[in-house]
Amino acid sequence: MSVREEFDAWAADGRDRGMEERHWHTAKHVLARMPVEDGDRVLDLGTGSGYALRALADSTGMTRGYGLDGAPEMARNAREYTLEADPDADLGFVVGDFGHLPFADDSLDHAFTMEAFYYSDDPHETLREVRRVLRPGGTFYCAVNYYEENVHSHGWQENISVDMTRWDAAEYRDAFRGAGLHVAEQDNVPDLEVDIPPAEAFPTDDWETREDMVERYRELGTLLTVGVAP
Ligand code: SAH
Repeated sequence: MSVREEFDAWAADGRDRGMEERHWHTAKHVLARMPVEDGDRVLDLGTGSGYALRALADSTGMTRGYGLDGAPEMARNAREYTLEADPDADLGFVVGDFGHLPFADDSLDHAFTMEAFYYSDDPHETLREVRRVLRPGGTFYCAVNYYEENVHSHGWQENISVDMTRWDAAEYRDAFRGAGLHVAEQDNVPDLEVDIPPAEAFPTDDWETREDMVERYRELGTLLTVGVAP
């Protein structure tokens, strides 16, 4: 199944909003770290419901946000949610692929992506594209929950037809550098909001032990790699 078929189906049954709710726990901390200034143009790769751009538009003086998604239904929903939430927000949602970003060289100030990068057909090419469209000094905030150190995520590929890339933290840093980005920081952003029940509740439907759940959310959390265009 293609990205389009897989994620159009997700958008149609409301999973875009479900992801937004879960991803917000750590995405909000990542967004808060982005050095977005007045007048900036920001790209969100694999925008889903578009929540990240709406949050940045609310909290910064950014001029324009672009949400790119390979699934037309996702982009359509994101447009609709934005109209409902803030009809004046200057956000555009475009259908496109991570392999060919529809932006000119040096045309964007910052880029963000949450739980989407690893679906790229060719993540090295995607990083080169991100570097191409960022102006010198522009940043790329790349957040993933599916990565090698997070053993609790390893089974996710079984439930999705799109091939996923599972790098470890060092592979992210190497790939960023290989694409010509400096690595400004790398961090694990914990999810402090997921409710972890008391020990006697385990095993649960999803978790064998409480220790596993604590490791997954409070310790490993979301892997953030920040690149800076030279
Ligand atoms: N960032 C959102 C959505 C994550 S789901 C959130 O945090 O909830 C991943 C999204 O990336 C989906 O909407 C999917 O359609 C999109 N996507 C996956 N691979 C893509 C690709 N190669 N090109 C463009 N979009 C892609």
